[in-house]
Amino acid sequence: MNTRSNSLHETDIAYQLHPYTNARVHEEQGPMIITKGDGCYVYDSEGKKYLEGLAGLWSVAVGFSQPRLVEAAAKQMSELPYIQNFAHKAHAPGILLAEKLVEMTPEHLTKVFYTNSGSEANDTVVKFVWFMNNMLGRPKKKKFLARNKGYHGITIASGSLTGLPGNQRGFDLPAIPVVHLTCPHHYRWAHEGESETEFTARLLKEAEDTILAEDPDTIAAFIGEPVMGAGGVMTPPEGYWPGIEALCRKYDILLVSDEVINGFGRTGQPFGCQTYGFTPDILVTSKQLTSSYMPLAAILMTDAVYQVIADYTAELGTLGHGFTAGGNPVACAVGIENLNIIQEEDLMGNAARLADRLQSGLRAFSDHSLVGEVRGIGLIAGVELVRDKATKASFEPAGKIAAMTAKFAAEEGLIIRNIYETIGICPPLIITEAQIDELLEKLGRALDRTL
Ligand code: PLP
Repeated sequence: MNTRSNSLHETDIAYQLHPYTNARVHEEQGPMIITKGDGCYVYDSEGKKYLEGLAGLWSVAVGFSQPRLVEAAAKQMSELPYIQNFAHKAHAPGILLAEKLVEMTPEHLTKVFYTNSGSEANDTVVKFVWFMNNMLGRPKKKKFLARNKGYHGITIASGSLTGLPGNQRGFDLPAIPVVHLTCPHHYRWAHEGESETEFTARLLKEAEDTILAEDPDTIAAFIGEPVMGAGGVMTPPEGYWPGIEALCRKYDILLVSDEVINGFGRTGQPFGCQTYGFTPDILVTSKQLTSSYMPLAAILMTDAVYQVIADYTAELGTLGHGFTAGGNPVACAVGIENLNIIQEEDLMGNAARLADRLQSGLRAFSDHSLVGEVRGIGLIAGVELVRDKATKASFEPAGKIAAMTAKFAAEEGLIIRNIYETIGICPPLIITEAQIDELLEKLGRALDRTL
């Protein structure tokens, strides 16, 4: 096997099937190989430097190659690289990270369960909710409410919650009982002339009508991202989340906040549910939890949720669920140090302070002939491209033009993500004012080159 570095390109084409990639195009053009990261920048195999405008995949809060995380991983790796978390075994990093997560998240969340990824976490949420309702003697209460354009992962259950055709086509999903409600994005989904308040009222009516039509005794949970990320960065209309919470309480439906992207300061508050004023029964975190240096996700739950699950484990003899590497000690040690850095360097405060510079800088592109809408909050944003600003008509085929902008941005030395027609922006939380200005300048040049 030839693995010389100058042939890495060919070796990749020969041996890897990449996620979220057109395999036939990849066979022709091969990979962009990133060899090094430093702070907000990464470098490719040719030595070209890029500002990472998406923080990896919405995740590298503390920037690339943070020496404290390297040290925390190395120390834990040499002391205790692995021990199971099953069957009453525990390890200090897992215990201390759970304590820290309970301290950092909203007060009413009191217990933690670890998985390796956001998808596994949401799969676990589905199973826990079903498990609970079986314990409570209501086996019919199993359906989930989710939203069109929501993203909750790609496993059988989490991929069913996801409301994006691209993740379901060809995979026979959804495969669990889920009802997708209208995407809460005013620009795209409001009726002609409908105000934001009217839009919220319509969405809440739709949610309640759906609950009643399906039968509240069959609806177990509502899951949503406070700010929708991978579906195109959509911020909810005013009053949406408190209204959803009220419906969940009225019909005894668990409320799940998927904060895999939103968590740890991304939206300007520590958690998205705090930005939008609601109190979830279950909160899911990953990504910025370890800055994605190690695979880890954590599910936080209320005492009420925990007590039902705990009772059932007593009745059945065990919790028949868990992942070999879920809550791996090295991942947890990295998570603790990562959260220490976020706290000591006040990175959540930095995100809140720099939000306006990023958001108003991006809104200056609203006049650009290609830009239909600029949206976002904190340090997450979306720039939606349109063929016609007046009618909001998109380019065909969907995503082609945004892909072109992303390609030009890369040539300018900026990594961003094209999501259908939208450019997703989500820089590391350590970004500085000067680096935000650099991001805006490079994006501006990429937009100008697009048409
Ligand atoms: N939930 C949300 C909100 C996400 O954005 C993602 C990933 O982008 C996931 C779940 C799935 O996480 P993972 O890719 O770690 O499985």
